[in-house]
Amino acid sequence: MPPTISNPPTTAQQYVQQAIAEQSQIIAQGQYQMLGQVMRIRTDRGVMEFYGSGPLIGRRHDRMDLVMVTEWPGLPDKRTATAAPCVHCAVKCEQCEGKKASTCELCGGAGERLQQTVCDCLKTGGPFEACECHGIGMIGKPHKCAACNGTKTIACPRCRGTGQEATGLYPPKPGSPVCPKCQGQRVVVKLAPQQLVAFLQGKLGDMPVYGPIRSIVLVAMDGSRNIDIVEVEPDRQGNLMVLGLDKQANVTRGYFLGGVARIATARA
Ligand SMILES: [Zn+2]
Ligand SMILES: [Zn+2]
Ligand SMILES: [Zn+2]
Ligand SMILES: [Zn+2]
Repeated sequence: MPPTISNPPTTAQQYVQQAIAEQSQIIAQGQYQMLGQVMRIRTDRGVMEFYGSGPLIGRRHDRMDLVMVTEWPGLPDKRTATAAPCVHCAVKCEQCEGKKASTCELCGGAGERLQQTVCDCLKTGGPFEACECHGIGMIGKPHKCAACNGTKTIACPRCRGTGQEATGLYPPKPGSPVCPKCQGQRVVVKLAPQQLVAFLQGKLGDMPVYGPIRSIVLVAMDGSRNIDIVEVEPDRQGNLMVLGLDKQANVTRGYFLGGVARIATARA
């Protein structure tokens, strides 16, 4: 019988030390089942995004207690997609061949269109038969094309006048890996730092804790790339889960403290 069960902790510092000892032992002895790689952690203070760099987490064999198997990787820059195409992985636009413009479809590239206008013969009172309107009273007169404003060309609709199309692959050809600049999103991705301090809940003993955690989105590690969602509810003491970070000289380890986790994913 491990002494940690018969001697419940009395202070926050003891609680944290015990959690660290337990979770470290579970990892060291392999007493866990791998759950997956963290994609995002939803907290009451916002969402931590990890993209492809999240830590691996597992659960204890005998309970649904979470353990962070790999070290805390830190928060990567937050990525926000913009409307601008990524030039890093772009190729010449197929439709305009890089010319950025294409022939105006409305005027067929003439720059002007005939518009039915009242003929002068109606104002002057004839002669009607000999008039170029053949006595109809209306005649087509050239007007500047409204679509191209007389320029005969319009911005290529396919590449929106950029002359280039992003492929999301680099080098930009079939079979290449995903473009590192846009992560395959084909648009410029704006990067902004995610500040860990924005998620700070407080301290438990000496340990800074972050959260509280409401759910964790995981990618399965079995090759299926299935997404699992772990939902967190308060434990019997009413505590939600927090993430404790223990920064040592070269490595920061993460610990899940409090709360009750369950896999909420409904899979067919
Ligand atoms: Zn006329
Ligand atoms: Zn036109
Ligand atoms: Zn184009
Ligand atoms: Zn790109």
